[in-house]
Amino acid sequence: MARVQFDDVTKVFEDTSGPIVAVEELSLEIPDGEFVVFVGPSGCGKSTTLRMLAGLETITDGEIRLDGQPVNDMSPKERDIAMVFQSYALYPHKTVRENMAYGLKLSTDLSDEEVNRRVVEAAEMMGIEDLLDKKPGSLSGGQQQRVATGRAIVREPAVFLFDEPLSNLDAKLRKHMRTELSRIHSELGITTIYVTHDQEEAMTMADRIVILDNGQLQQVGSPKEVYYRPANAFVADFIGSPSMNFFDVDLHVESDGTGTLVGEGISYGVSEEIVDAVGGEGEYTLSIRPENLRVDDTVPPAKRFEAEVDVVEIVGSDNFLYLRVGGKECRLRAPVEVEPAEGEIVDVTFDESDLHLFDRNTEEALVHGHERAETARRTVEQEA
Ligand code: ATP
Repeated sequence: MARVQFDDVTKVFEDTSGPIVAVEELSLEIPDGEFVVFVGPSGCGKSTTLRMLAGLETITDGEIRLDGQPVNDMSPKERDIAMVFQSYALYPHKTVRENMAYGLKLSTDLSDEEVNRRVVEAAEMMGIEDLLDKKPGSLSGGQQQRVATGRAIVREPAVFLFDEPLSNLDAKLRKHMRTELSRIHSELGITTIYVTHDQEEAMTMADRIVILDNGQLQQVGSPKEVYYRPANAFVADFIGSPSMNFFDVDLHVESDGTGTLVGEGISYGVSEEIVDAVGGEGEYTLSIRPENLRVDDTVPPAKRFEAEVDVVEIVGSDNFLYLRVGGKECRLRAPVEVEPAEGEIVDVTFDESDLHLFDRNTEEALVHGHERAETARRTVEQEA
């Protein structure tokens, strides 16, 4: 098992159209035994980062260390890392048993007996004991994925790397395999880095999520941290489904110190705590998650705004309301009993503790409403 460190790691590809910076000055420390998920849109540099760690790609600048030992100049073989790809890369003419044993036989001088013991053990762990004498061609996608993972387990590596391993499976099997991989991680305790573009996969599997965009690190944090305290508008937009609603608003400060956020069809009164935290009047981006909006005409008028119902999508557990607020689409997740007619005008509100405010220019987070609410609660308690 190993601790993984990226120290100012940069990768530049020389392309015919000019240099492409795939990864820019990435610094990150992954403690021994952690399950880390790299997530981000296509082309953000996830695979390149993984391939540099595995030794399949050279590093343009910076250093990668395993347990404090620089590995920049080590061959993939010397790094003791096992990688599982989206394409299972199994040898079609070899049996499952031979596929699983092959790498081990090549890279170690273990006895046939020991190799076989490890293969059987890994096969049991992956629930594929019955398939050991079959050829990959006769297996389903899910079974092939298990064999590819089993082949990595057999090696008992210091680090596991997974590059979109579940992309080829159907939704149900993907969910099942997620649970399986999490279970295997807790059984083996091996440092694992898992790459996906699927934020739900990241949220459900990770100890910590690493969010990348355009080769740059956006945020590192636990699933709860990145959901409740997104560092910037990109993370806020990327994490959560359906994604966040954003509104360009101006903050007007009233004579009593409270404020009103106004813009793009929204007018919403906020407390002095929010005004102080954000730094007074100015232009901001307000964002609220669909699950934090609700249809409600009972709150004071300053705390609600009108929306026109475009579409009501019934998904079983909830209703997704697609609304028009000031000409902009806004998504609201409502309980099943809330089913307004299309074209109806409804009153929409949210709790101040659920808002997020970002700097309009830098897109950096300025205020997370729940932190303000927490500070206000503590102050009241202290004063009492
Ligand atoms: P995806 O989810 O689509 O696999 P990714 O986040 O894994 O994307 P990378 O494959 O790491 O992204 O690519 C990062 C950037 O580097 C992209 O702009 C890509 O086009 C570029 N890139 C990757 N490999 C090469 C290469 N061999 N030559 C030139 N450019 C490359």
